[in-house]
Amino acid sequence: MTLDNIKEEIYSAKNIVILTHDIPDGDAIGSSLSLYLALKQLGKTVDVVIPKYSKTFEFLPGATEIKKEGAMEAYDLAIALDCGDIKRLNGFTNYFEDANCRICIDHHGINTMFGDYNFVDPTAPACCQILITVLKALEVEITKDIGTCLLTGIITDTGGFKYPGVKAETFEFVAELLNKGVNVSETYKTVLQTISKEKFELRKIAMNRIELLEEGKIAYTYILQEDEKKAGSEDHDGIVEMGRDIEGVEISIFLRETEKNNYKISLRSNNYVNVADISLLFNGGGHIRAAGGTITNMHLNKAKEKIINECKKHLK
Ligand code: 5GP
Ligand code: MN
Repeated sequence: MTLDNIKEEIYSAKNIVILTHDIPDGDAIGSSLSLYLALKQLGKTVDVVIPKYSKTFEFLPGATEIKKEGAMEAYDLAIALDCGDIKRLNGFTNYFEDANCRICIDHHGINTMFGDYNFVDPTAPACCQILITVLKALEVEITKDIGTCLLTGIITDTGGFKYPGVKAETFEFVAELLNKGVNVSETYKTVLQTISKEKFELRKIAMNRIELLEEGKIAYTYILQEDEKKAGSEDHDGIVEMGRDIEGVEISIFLRETEKNNYKISLRSNNYVNVADISLLFNGGGHIRAAGGTITNMHLNKAKEKIINECKKHLK
């Protein structure tokens, strides 16, 4: 069984690198740090390599030990978390490819199975929920610190327990974490509610630009590099959800300029559109209700038209 192989590889490796997807969210960082703390408990030499992440997650146990690049050229073992495609490994594909053994633990429906061992469960609402099974198999003690990281991933990817992927076991596990002393309400507030003034300014700009199209079934907004400079924040988390939360909207589109004429696309849907399918046309992927991709070498107006036209085809 894959889980037995994973356990064996982790037990026999001396040095391990943990990698996750670019623009890491709470599930990516929560997964990485919970596994990091668990592997430290097992006496391993471990590097978590994440070049850049939101200030929101600086409170997490172990966050100060995150590295911007790896300390060695080739690791015994590389573990990719919350990442469906090797291309999204933060530009650190080399650490993954050069390791003696490669493991992928993930919950994306579209996962290219790029590890030697792939423990992938698309029905899990968060990668952190899969990690619970992995940590239990490794016989690691789930401490309050590890629990705080796991909870961060779960509340991020379930939108605070409100998305349809939430299962009874999600609550059962969180109940276990409460018993370990994890502060659920404080973690929830830090991760999902409190935003910096700069982030608030950026949200305001995006909110003012929301357009409702196709009889209100599509919400569209965008952020340019100059907006990020003006607001003093690059943290666009939560912007695409503002559009999705408007009554009658089925698809919310958010374009973020990454370089001149290049855009990162974020898509969300409410009821029936599979946005992961749409994202595949834009070199991307994701989940049925939350996905993303990219548009390159295109003026904003053209990019807007292109993504809206694709989305329109999926409306009822
Ligand atoms: P977000 O809109 O929050 O950036 O991403 C939503 C979901 O889509 C996440 O699960 C993320 O992993 C996935 N996603 C976003 N952008 C890409 C991309 O360029 N490629 C792939 N494969 N998945 C993406
Ligand atoms: Mn995730």
